[in-house]
Amino acid sequence: MSDRGGMFHKILIANRGEIALRIQRACRELGIPTVAVHSTADADAMHVRLADESVCIGPPAARDSYLNTAAILGAATITGADAIHPGYGFLSENADFAEMVEAHGLTFIGPSPSHIRMMGDKIEAKHAMASLNVPLVPGSAGVVSDMEEARAVADRVKYPVLIKAAAGGGGRGMKVAHDESELAEAWRLARTEAAAAFGNDAVYIEKYLDKPRHIELQVLADSHGNVVHLGERDCSLQRRHQKLLEEAGSPALTAEERDRIGEVVTSGLRKLGYRNAGTLEFLYQDGQFAFIEMNTRLQVEHPVTEAITGIDLVREQIRIAAGEPLGYEQSDIRFRGHAIECRINAEDPLTFMPTPGRIEAFHAPGGLGVRVDSALYSGYVVPPYYDSMVAKLIVHAPTRPEAIARMSRALEEMAVVGISTTAELHQRVLADPEFQAGEYTIHWLEKFVAGQIPAA
Ligand code: ADP
Repeated sequence: MSDRGGMFHKILIANRGEIALRIQRACRELGIPTVAVHSTADADAMHVRLADESVCIGPPAARDSYLNTAAILGAATITGADAIHPGYGFLSENADFAEMVEAHGLTFIGPSPSHIRMMGDKIEAKHAMASLNVPLVPGSAGVVSDMEEARAVADRVKYPVLIKAAAGGGGRGMKVAHDESELAEAWRLARTEAAAAFGNDAVYIEKYLDKPRHIELQVLADSHGNVVHLGERDCSLQRRHQKLLEEAGSPALTAEERDRIGEVVTSGLRKLGYRNAGTLEFLYQDGQFAFIEMNTRLQVEHPVTEAITGIDLVREQIRIAAGEPLGYEQSDIRFRGHAIECRINAEDPLTFMPTPGRIEAFHAPGGLGVRVDSALYSGYVVPPYYDSMVAKLIVHAPTRPEAIARMSRALEEMAVVGISTTAELHQRVLADPEFQAGEYTIHWLEKFVAGQIPAA
């Protein structure tokens, strides 16, 4: 229709939970109707209630529903959707799915299948980044196929080393060897775990950094060659390589360092012809950045970037996919204040065991600079089949200390009655002097949790 230009007429959202709501909100503001898909376990979910239309795509297990490409493409066809937003997780980094979407004459709201495929293979991703002058963690040049080669690489980069799955994700298939005596066992375990998790036992080796921060850079690229970065997020607070609290900006980075790495990354992605949103993940230690991977999708923690830049990342993803130019340049992007996100998971705050079940009551906090992204409601039953994250609490304030005070206040106000969540752990982290000083690495949280006395 001429009045809408190249913009989509209906978007199918191939996801669930808070991210499905997040995408619906962007669509509604753009005036685009949405189609929700859901498993039988999610018939009463908020993302289904708030969508314009919904289609049941299968039984509870994700492989039969949210990963069921035939059912999702069928749902798009019968509802007349012309684009699919995959959210994060599930099919968001599945190049075959992105190709199928395009083969059906629909638009995949994300990067090209070839870029998804390239970055999904961590070794290929590192080669690509090296050729674009992006700094890497020292390590093997590619797949390490036998112990002899593993020993040679470890001797070259020096112990400790990390054995990582080439097809990795979610922190699985990663094993540290502190010295040569641990190498054979770490090698064996990493390969076994990689084979079980990804059906691919190829591994590579990196120097294991002992005190890095995880700092990632958000980028946006349109199909007209415009590439900008939206600054960094510090995601060092992790447990078992899973992020729990994120900040923008990083307490460790100066504006000059941000500009420098931003320039390297944006000029690299411009050469690559990358399109849509993406995140480059780095380890940062002793003032040096070292690339570890690129995520070719929206990230869970994107709202902290939205808070400090005022840019709606999902709206931008949709506009870019529709062929619109960004309409602004790097120099137009301003970073304002400080933002923090706490992931509220349906988990025991200290053992991290999942705690699915009925939410007796839910009360969301509010007030200036507080954002809650959640699909929870009073009476909702958190199903045991999916990721345990049930809410994201995001605050924005002029300074980091004010953001910490605001987050603590918001957590106090929030009530999730009926199940245990990670909220209590966040309160303890926010009260810690080291956290308040911004002095933490990727190992900090695990030590902090180990030092906590179980709640009475
Ligand atoms: P995945 O895709 O499984 O999440 P990543 O390569 O993104 O794997 O690494 C996940 C996390 O593991 C990082 O955020 C960091 O905490 C840790 N990590 C990865 N590589 C290294 C390394 N070379 N040295 C130390 N820690 C690392």
